[in-house]
Amino acid sequence: MKAGASEEEINEVVRAIEGFEYQPHVIKGVERTVIGAVGDEREKGKLQVLETWPGVENVVPILKPYKLASSEIKKEKSQIPIGEGVVVGGSEIIVMAGPCSVESEAQIIEVAKKVKQAGAQVLRGGAFKPRTSPYSFQGMEEEGLKLLDKARKATGLPIVTEVMESAQVDMVADYADMLQVGARNVQNFSLLKRLGKAKRPILLKRGLSTTIQEFLMSAEYILSHGNQQVVLCERGIRTFETATRNTLDISAIPVLAELTHLPVIVDPSHGTGVWHYVAPMALAAIAAGADGLMIEVHNCPEKALSDGPQALKPTKFSQLMEKARPLAELMGRGL
Ligand code: PEP
Ligand code: MN
Repeated sequence: MKAGASEEEINEVVRAIEGFEYQPHVIKGVERTVIGAVGDEREKGKLQVLETWPGVENVVPILKPYKLASSEIKKEKSQIPIGEGVVVGGSEIIVMAGPCSVESEAQIIEVAKKVKQAGAQVLRGGAFKPRTSPYSFQGMEEEGLKLLDKARKATGLPIVTEVMESAQVDMVADYADMLQVGARNVQNFSLLKRLGKAKRPILLKRGLSTTIQEFLMSAEYILSHGNQQVVLCERGIRTFETATRNTLDISAIPVLAELTHLPVIVDPSHGTGVWHYVAPMALAAIAAGADGLMIEVHNCPEKALSDGPQALKPTKFSQLMEKARPLAELMGRGL
């Protein structure tokens, strides 16, 4: 739409798009409103007539296979609020920290207080755990969600936690401020469609062997089903290298910044699998332009029920935050 297009002109175009049996998605930018029309690619010529309508600047086909996620539709980075007062994609770098799994009330409350003290803005913790082995700890499930709620009340930190299947979405959304889709579910399209209807922001993790294009197509599933609140997370991909658990793809950060308006955070814990590689890769992520970090922190990593070897102790996490602050500033960001 033209910069000065009225609400009425915007609504007229939305109705016209619906009339063509396309789905309208209104995206309000700082300067202008863009209306995405999503539908059958073969019939896109029909929309061209809208170019003559009042308030319409032009009708542009998006060439990328991902449309709503593409930076072609929206130049400015999207700002995604989590709970109250935390925004991913703004000037502040957002750090989500906490244990891999919620294990007990004492554990989650202690870690929550420590990461908050160190400057984390969001608490992470898994209650439903996607484990490679069915014999490994599978998470505390709803009991874990209740403990996360207690930790939120004790610290004021908003909560991000994983949802593994469509049937759990409502329940997890009742407790969590942000819903995480794990690497193993990034192409679970029925879950992604369901999350498009959820009233919570989504943290979408890149899969073990997901290309950037496939990653953005997964984001597109959520956006096209109605939820515009998506944050991407690079968490390492599988390569021939075995010295680290995964190979953290730092180059994904500038590549995604070019291709999409969605903010990107980095998880160097799963990205390396080794706690003493976490800090250097976290700093590298900030230097490459990441909008945030996800870091696993455990009060006693030796006894952790999952991912102990990659967890930072609270003091190490706090040291990382101290190191990250001047670097964030150098990058023109706050932390
Ligand atoms: C996690 O965040 O604990 C997790 C299981 O991550 P990923 O899905 O990236 O392996
Ligand atoms: Mn983990």
